[in-house]
Amino acid sequence: SDELKFITGALALSEKNLSQIMTAMDDVFGLYPDELLDFELMRRIYESGYTRIPVFQRPVDRHTGRPLYSAIDPSRRIGITRNRSRNVSNPDDDASSDTTPSKYGGTVALPLQVLGLLSTKDLILVDPEDAMPVEQLLAHCGRDLLTVWFDTPVNTMLTDFLVGNSHLAFVQRVNTEDPSTDPFYELIGIVTLEDVLEELIQSEIVDE
Ligand code: ADP
Repeated sequence: SDELKFITGALALSEKNLSQIMTAMDDVFGLYPDELLDFELMRRIYESGYTRIPVFQRPVDRHTGRPLYSAIDPSRRIGITRNRSRNVSNPDDDASSDTTPSKYGGTVALPLQVLGLLSTKDLILVDPEDAMPVEQLLAHCGRDLLTVWFDTPVNTMLTDFLVGNSHLAFVQRVNTEDPSTDPFYELIGIVTLEDVLEELIQSEIVDE
């Protein structure tokens, strides 16, 4: 019955944590501040179907401090390759020119930082002809940011969403995987009220 489903869902909320229900960074549709809000990017945002779009700082090389635009850009983790801008796809920015190999073979990049959150409503007054940089829009329209720990119980998150003014949170952990670097805060996903409610009723919510 629906009642039984609801109760078992509610019980499970205190046992599950956010890392089990979040949308992982790989699947997050986000933007970089230097991308231009031209027709192509606006169309991609529209086609993503999301109403809230995080803006991430472009990862920088840990040693040189230079932005990473390369093919092995760790920003792939935020699905940014699905919304490549002219900046990202610039063939001059190849892997050899702007990366520093670490002794573990990969590029050593500083972890992703979130700069802000845009609502697609903010795009209503944007003229694609102007090709305004994302950061300019963010300066006018940025939303509050909420960051939470990956092991927060789902029921705690539900309460926080209901009393707070943001219904989207960034999920973080402390990454201790690389013994050659200091532990650092790492964003590993996002969670929205919908994810929590979905867990509560244990069934898919059909978006209207
Ligand atoms: P929306 O209002 O954009 O439809 P919801 O809050 O209803 O978003 O969430 C629907 C699902 O989409 C959830 O699983 C949520 O984690 C995910 N989601 C929300 N925004 C994004 C985004 N920018 N990129 C990837 N997934 C997202």
